[in-house]
Amino acid sequence: METIYLDNAATSFPKPPAVARRMAEYLTAVGATVNRSVYGAAQEAGAVALRLRQRICRLFGTDDPTRVILTPGNTWGLNLVLRGFLRPGDHCLVSAMEHNAVMRPLQDLAAAGVTFDRIPCDGAGRLDVSAVEPLLRPETRLVVLAHGSNVSGTVQDAAAVGEICRRRGVAFCLDAAQTAGHLPIDFRALGLSALSAPGHKGLLGPSGIGVLVLDPAFAAQLTPVVTGGTGSASDSELQPPYLPDRFEPGTPNVPGIYGLEAALDYLETVGIDAVATHDRRLTARFLAGLRAIPGAALVGPDGTEGRVGVLSVDFPGLDNAVAADRLEQEFGILTRCGLHCAPAAHRTLGTFPRGTVRFSLGPFNTEAHVDAALEAIAAVSAG
Ligand code: PMP
Repeated sequence: METIYLDNAATSFPKPPAVARRMAEYLTAVGATVNRSVYGAAQEAGAVALRLRQRICRLFGTDDPTRVILTPGNTWGLNLVLRGFLRPGDHCLVSAMEHNAVMRPLQDLAAAGVTFDRIPCDGAGRLDVSAVEPLLRPETRLVVLAHGSNVSGTVQDAAAVGEICRRRGVAFCLDAAQTAGHLPIDFRALGLSALSAPGHKGLLGPSGIGVLVLDPAFAAQLTPVVTGGTGSASDSELQPPYLPDRFEPGTPNVPGIYGLEAALDYLETVGIDAVATHDRRLTARFLAGLRAIPGAALVGPDGTEGRVGVLSVDFPGLDNAVAADRLEQEFGILTRCGLHCAPAAHRTLGTFPRGTVRFSLGPFNTEAHVDAALEAIAAVSAG
């Protein structure tokens, strides 16, 4: 049986063919690491890393490639922001829709004297922007927001939150795990201090690499959480003060740099607007089809506004894990069921601890994929 991949919120698949090709080229014909040696192959790898940073700048509307930190992944970038910025006594705000990549480090920090509050969200996961200011305290230093929910696809009004943060002098970090590569994002227009994104989801690259874009004033207040060799300032045992080296200790994931650079080349050629339009068209089709299926209920926004193509479905008459298993076994539909590393989001949406079956779309999905998923949902929900 042919399978249909609808688990792009976990990781995107397939990748543009150039991703694997460039990674293989690197591993078979280049081999050198970056920022260390000066022979030709090393310089070539360094040029690819610079091109990757420049592409990230273009993607997020920034202009300084040194402010693009290449991380081992989104979880790593978010940990750096939280652990490297917050000190005992500080207060932090998060939404009621955060992933555990934010909540677990924040709970660790809470045990060490950081306090936090959750900005309430409605039953579709939408942030109550009017609740942000009343929650700010004199000791509030940071707001962290999941731009798009990995459970319901809900996209928050980051510009409104950014405006409040800017006015009140609070740093603002966006977790763009579900929106980077899916929606246009403008770092400056959103008033961001930091933006973290994984390379392996909407950016269409491999896993094991992510990006963290930093505002210079925020970067100056950020302490590295991991230090080590950078290939620079080798006369010193202290971490270099300059970017990106300060936050890039150790030999980087160079195959990942090649893969992600090729993926961003693809995305630039196709254009984020075209990806977003495709996502919206497929989401509209999925939502319309789902409304006609009585045994399956959508969890999250019921329209294409303010969301991305991450669609959670509850099968009220069934165990959702059984539903997901049947979708795979009988129809080849690949989804993810359960709580999606986001118990807070499921609590907000009213699906904790039952969980949902999540269908998540990517740029290589088609209308035929959506129709096949809908047919399968109808069959499984009918018993
Ligand atoms: N935040 C959100 C909203 C996510 O969806 C994810 C991935 N599921 C993460 C953070 C963590 O990303 P990664 O697992 O790639 O480090």
